[in-house]
Amino acid sequence: MPIAFFNTLTRKKEELKPIKKGEVGIYTCGPTVYWYQHIGNFRAYIAWDVLKRTLLHLGYKVNHVMNYTDVGHLTSDADEGEDKMEKAAAKEGKKASEIAKFYSDAFEKDAEKLSIITPTTVCKATEHIKEQIALVQALEKNGFTYKTSDGIYYDTSKFPDYGKLGRISAEGLEEGKRVEMGEKKNKTDFALWKFSEEPGKRQQEWESPWGLGFPGWHIECSAMSSKYLGEQFDIHTGGEDHIQVHHQNEIAQSEGAYGKKPWVKYWLHNAFLTFKGDKVSKSKGGLYTISELEEQGFSALDYRYFCLGTHYRKPLNFSLEALEGAKNTYARLKNMIIELKTRTDSKKTASFEKYKQEFDAAMEDDLNTAQALAVLWNTLKDEGLGSREKLELAFEFDKVLGLGLADAEAEAIEAPEEIMDLVDAREDARKKKDWKASDRIRDEIKAKGWIVEDTKEGQKLKKG
Ligand code: AMP
Ligand code: ZN
Repeated sequence: MPIAFFNTLTRKKEELKPIKKGEVGIYTCGPTVYWYQHIGNFRAYIAWDVLKRTLLHLGYKVNHVMNYTDVGHLTSDADEGEDKMEKAAAKEGKKASEIAKFYSDAFEKDAEKLSIITPTTVCKATEHIKEQIALVQALEKNGFTYKTSDGIYYDTSKFPDYGKLGRISAEGLEEGKRVEMGEKKNKTDFALWKFSEEPGKRQQEWESPWGLGFPGWHIECSAMSSKYLGEQFDIHTGGEDHIQVHHQNEIAQSEGAYGKKPWVKYWLHNAFLTFKGDKVSKSKGGLYTISELEEQGFSALDYRYFCLGTHYRKPLNFSLEALEGAKNTYARLKNMIIELKTRTDSKKTASFEKYKQEFDAAMEDDLNTAQALAVLWNTLKDEGLGSREKLELAFEFDKVLGLGLADAEAEAIEAPEEIMDLVDAREDARKKKDWKASDRIRDEIKAKGWIVEDTKEGQKLKKG
């Protein structure tokens, strides 16, 4: 069965038919690097990591591109307000480039802990100013732009397809939504290039055919995605908050400049991680970071397991209690794997192939990770299958799930000195083949609340 996704553009589940056979190009809207990414943001990156891993597992070659927004993202979506990078730099008394470096490094460390595979290309807006200017010039040439006192704007009334992604019209926007019009001709028009208000005051500004300034937020994604993936590509991903404005504008820019339709074939959007029913965003002061979860005794992979339990298009309500539940289930899973690693029995039944097919079918059905986890559990609990076969399947599935099962090891447990002395004494007894003493010491250890097991690697301790 070919893989199918829910495409926001068509509002239908559609089979993937890549532009180039056997290869898939994916662009992911990445972090704005003025602050730590919170676990809501990481829900998005986990979803797209699973997408990539699934395609790799199915044999596709994947070219994955993600950006770092390090200029031009204003505090308001209506091209008003301060630049988030400049604001953070002023607040922390640092250079905007230092802020960008610090938070992109922090992002990469967290992504690594979450087993997120690094994209093929990671590109920064500030390193692609030339490409962004060229794209605005192409739009200018094609008659889509106009100039105001504060910048070059996109005239959305000139692009008949405007709004097809979010199902809104150029006059429209959601009913009742207040829009700062300024000198804009239409509510949905947006800045392509902004002029520096007072030249020399901003840290980040560049010369352009229109004077000193900086790019609008949306233009970077159009310019960089097509630089690395071509003027048409397969999949574009992002959070559902980007549908109405950012992604709509990306389409208007790219189709207006390149003239190819559709610019992107499949648009995939993740639903939000919510907290007590509220959407959580960094700018609202929002939710935990990965380090904050670690301080609460959770690992990044506990959080990954938590996310995989819910389909990426369904809202996911976060609470520490719910995460605790996921952590315990994930610990049980790892314990089963550790246990299986000590066994050598092998038995392949028909269910071996059946589980493989069920797992692939779940992932091919719009990345149904919750169902895929259920298949993994059924595999491990199947009494007919041999231990080796179970492990083989679990490791195969984990290439997609990314839960680090192959590395699962019994957590080092700290037993008191007194117990460790007894373990040492028992080791001596065993070396001398004094089985009576060995058994007596084992009972003594048990009476003190610990269980000692003999394995190929020697004695292992567990809490009794
Ligand atoms: P930002 O750094 O704000 O541009 O966000 C980075 C990514 O995280 C974008 O794809 C957003 O759509 C996504 N995102 C932001 N908040 C959440 C949330 N609470 N749940 C899921 N995704 C989110
Ligand atoms: Zn973007």
